[in-house]
Amino acid sequence: MTRLLKGKRALVTGASRGIGAAIAKAMAAEGAELGLVARNGDALRSLSKELEGTSCQCIEADLSTTAGVREAAEAATRDGKPWHILVNNAGVAHQTPLLKESPEAWDALMAVNLRAPMLLSQALVPGMIKAGEGKIVNISSVAAFIGTPGFGTYAASKAALNQLTRTMAVEWGEHGIQVNAVCPTIIMTDMGRQLWDRPDMEAARKIKQARIPVHRFGTPEEVADVVLFLVGPGSRYVSGTCTPVDGGMLASP
Ligand code: NAP
Repeated sequence: MTRLLKGKRALVTGASRGIGAAIAKAMAAEGAELGLVARNGDALRSLSKELEGTSCQCIEADLSTTAGVREAAEAATRDGKPWHILVNNAGVAHQTPLLKESPEAWDALMAVNLRAPMLLSQALVPGMIKAGEGKIVNISSVAAFIGTPGFGTYAASKAALNQLTRTMAVEWGEHGIQVNAVCPTIIMTDMGRQLWDRPDMEAARKIKQARIPVHRFGTPEEVADVVLFLVGPGSRYVSGTCTPVDGGMLASP
């Protein structure tokens, strides 16, 4: 059996749970060596144990600060070996109407969702340029495309991440680096449950599910499958895209 990512080194942020853990597992199954980044080191080590047979570097880091991102980048690049794949997946969300949003909450969210992907890419791309290849996938959201009441800061962070994705693709394409974003709708991870699986969100949840043509939310594995395509050989002519993974929601009237 050919393993699509044999010989590739892939760094995944937010790998301690949810979509990031599913992406790490999918890439391990295809033979990639992994770097796993998150604040919860125990969860990373437990995932690494679960992925017995896969080489995993666990990097405990807080990506909400510039110093934290730099520490993560330093740990990841210390041995001088290039990373072929970077998945900027770590993210946070909160629900606050725009008129009530504070500058502090805005900054805290933007730091993780937008600044960290930028700083980490800046740190890893020189190695990719040297290697003459690189695939970056930024985990965005369908919130980037539509007005999203209550989630304005989050939606703005993901729209900006999509735009960063396009510019990265254009600036780094000549070096053999492809950059794409994946934009899921609601996925029932900790984040999805915290925001949507509450009694006060029942009506909104039903409206949302009814609007999705397949009438259900997605799974972390369904997002991971799309990421796997984008980091694998089949996507060699795909760059600068922001792909919805939404059961057809954006196409729905
Ligand atoms: P999740 O279950 O809440 O997991 C978030 C991940 O990000 C965790 O591994 C967490 O690790 C990490 N993280 C958060 N803050 C961090 C920080 N300051 N430093 C380092 N790592 C941090 O969320 P998820 O649903 O898997 O979300 C993953 C990505 O998908 C996010 O970018 C999210 O915006 C996007 N997304 C999610 C949905 C959804 O409905 N779930 C929909 C569209 C897009 P630690 O807590 O261990 O640090």
